[in-house]
Amino acid sequence: MADRVELTGWGLYPRRPTRLRRAGNAAAIAALLDPAGMIARGNGRAYGDPAIGLSTTIDMRRLDRLIAFDDATGLLVAEAGLTLAEIIDIFLPRGWFPAVTPGTKFVTLGGAIAADVHGKNHHGEGSFRRHVAWFDLLGPDGVERRCSSDEHAELFHWTMGGMGLTGTILRAAVWLRPVETAWIRQRTIPTASLAETMDAFEANAAATYSVAWIDTLAAGRSLGRSILMLGEHAGVDELPSPLAANRFARRRGPTLDVPLTPPISLVGGPVIRAFNALYYARNRSKAGNSLVSIDSFFYPLDAILRWNRIYGRRGFVQFQCVLPLAAAQAGLTTMLSRIAASRTGSFLAVLKRMGAEEGPFSFPMEGYTLALDFPVGRRTEALTAELRAMTRDHGGRLYLAKDAQMTEAEMSVLDPRGLAFARWRREHGLAGPLRSHQSERLGL
Ligand SMILES: Cc1cc2nc3c(=O)[nH]c(=O)nc-3n(C[C@H](O)[C@H](O)[C@H](O)COP(=O)(O)OP(=O)(O)OC[C@H]3O[C@@H](n4cnc5c(N)ncnc54)[C@H](O)[C@@H]3O)c2cc1C
Repeated sequence: MADRVELTGWGLYPRRPTRLRRAGNAAAIAALLDPAGMIARGNGRAYGDPAIGLSTTIDMRRLDRLIAFDDATGLLVAEAGLTLAEIIDIFLPRGWFPAVTPGTKFVTLGGAIAADVHGKNHHGEGSFRRHVAWFDLLGPDGVERRCSSDEHAELFHWTMGGMGLTGTILRAAVWLRPVETAWIRQRTIPTASLAETMDAFEANAAATYSVAWIDTLAAGRSLGRSILMLGEHAGVDELPSPLAANRFARRRGPTLDVPLTPPISLVGGPVIRAFNALYYARNRSKAGNSLVSIDSFFYPLDAILRWNRIYGRRGFVQFQCVLPLAAAQAGLTTMLSRIAASRTGSFLAVLKRMGAEEGPFSFPMEGYTLALDFPVGRRTEALTAELRAMTRDHGGRLYLAKDAQMTEAEMSVLDPRGLAFARWRREHGLAGPLRSHQSERLGL
């Protein structure tokens, strides 16, 4: 069809044809409903193909209005295309911050709900769903439904984690959390092995935020050596006086951009080796307490716009699994040994302790989640296939917001909840009209 474009997710892989349309209100979206399969798209920060409609994709960014805010409870009502970055710019100076945030603030409210995103506080605060009071969902029948734990409760729960496959979120009410300053008290703990890293997570379960960066090239006795970072929102009395005088001032470093996509990846084994050694050494020397800005604690990658381009035209995939607590150490040891042996490494390797599972189709389960980036290529394809098999062998599952490669057969074993979701979609007349390239690939 002449009006088709090729779209990708954040990983620039895979590239899929679709009809891309913008809409600024519910009526415009209803007019675009496409029986051949449509899906909503937020800011395109999911990695693979979940935000690419099989036939039509609706760009939601024009629905970006604030509707109401209650400064007694922190309840914000806004349209689904508003980003967390926009919410933070408006509400942080008033003392409010998202209760849960992923590692980039360039996600929309709709995208955060549809993927039911988690943050560095999942062990304490759960995922995004815990902080959603209600949302209005436009069904493929053209009907708008207010969904909450009291109204259309089943639809409410499947939508959070349902990857746009239950309807289009038009607006939502979410609770923000009060904060006294724009600063985080960070404690940096270097660890020498995986066992030490996991012990440090368990010993610091009371920390509000925790996340570890793993050196994926370390092997042998150093396998799993990490830099664990803990964080607490700083109170105003914890800031030195020049900062306390202007407690919500943001210290944002220069924003860099990658203006074009090089034909080949700039991220190869030697670059990663050098980076990992440097990063570990630098942060080990920073062990202890420091005061860091909200932007550098939560969103270090956002300082480089379009950083996804450094992987070249073929793009990259992210592998993110969660392993249940009992199997986590054995599973992570197997995976990290395999990655170290491949000498492929991963620039971004993040480990996080997750809290209890909530919701019928959300990603998190109690245990450890590991996220890794790999450039697309035959070697890494074989490696990620092995990592998926290891996830299966240890009773874990994969994150759909990061998935570009899983097959329907793998999905049915890794996450049998997908079969229940697909059945529920069929029973409710959603499986025909709401389809993404990911839902086709996974048989959802
Ligand atoms: C650097 C980086 C770090 C990240 N860190 C984390 C992290 O720490 N934790 C985490 O959980 N995730 C993380 N992510 C993933 C990201 O949070 C999710 O993919 C999120 O869904 C992206 O939001 P988006 O608005 O860009 O949505 P898109 O990528 O455009 O879409 C994602 C899904 O949401 C659906 N959707 C979007 N808008 C709507 C709507 N209005 N109605 C219905 N469905 C809709 C789409 O159909 C699609 O299935 C990270 C991503 C990046 C790039």
